[in-house]
This record gives sequence, C-alpha cells and structure tokens, in this order.
Amino acid sequence: MARILLVEDNKHNQLLFLTALRHHGFEVSLVEDGECALTHVATEAPPDLVLLDLSLPKVDGWTVAKAIRADERAQWSCCPILALTAHAMKGDRERALDAGCDDYLSKPVSPRALIKQVQAMVASARAA
Ligand code: MN
Repeated sequence: MARILLVEDNKHNQLLFLTALRHHGFEVSLVEDGECALTHVATEAPPDLVLLDLSLPKVDGWTVAKAIRADERAQWSCCPILALTAHAMKGDRERALDAGCDDYLSKPVSPRALIKQVQAMVASARAA
C-alpha cells in the first residue's frame, strides 16, 4: 500500500483529500502546517509521495519542498512532491518546480484529478 503525506491546513480540503485517497487504498498521514511538516521530515520515514499545499501557516510549502530536497539524512530527498495551491497565479508553478516540487495542481482540485495524478506519480516513482 502506498503511503502519502498530506500537508494541508484547510479543513474542507483535508476531509476531501483524505476521503478520496483512503477510498483508493492509500495510507495517509496528515500534518496541518509547515512547521509540523518540517518536524515530520526530520523524524519520520519518507512516504511514497508528499501532497503539499503551498499556502500554509507558520512555514510555507515552498520552504517545506526545499527542506525535503535538502534532507540531510538523504531519505526524503528523492520523494515525489505534488504541490497544491489556491492561487493559479502566473509564476507559482515555476516557483513550485524551482523549490523542488515534481508537479502541481491548482485548487480547486477535483478528487478525480487528484487521484489520477497521485497514482501516476507513485507508479512512475516505483518504476524508476
Ligand atoms: Mn492552505
């Protein structure tokens, strides 16, 4: 079973994404702000994919992505990161990719699109 770390502060999205991912057989851990995400990266084993909201309390998602890529233990550094943002702003995609995210979905994200993208990224990481 693939394991997903969901980093999301919005309660509605937490429920939407948790429900869809678990329904499709993913094991999901949830953290609700960037600071908790950094602690998680420093202390836990890496998941198969990080689903990362970019707009987070305390520490933003771009900083979290950079910390994952710079993981000193080198356990998380290759973990696939799928970024989520509420702002379909020009430049956000580039900033997300520059920070080390592998791909990007603009909110509102449909559960169907999310699952499709997560499945594709987990499969391609496993094939690598
Ligand atoms: Mn947010």
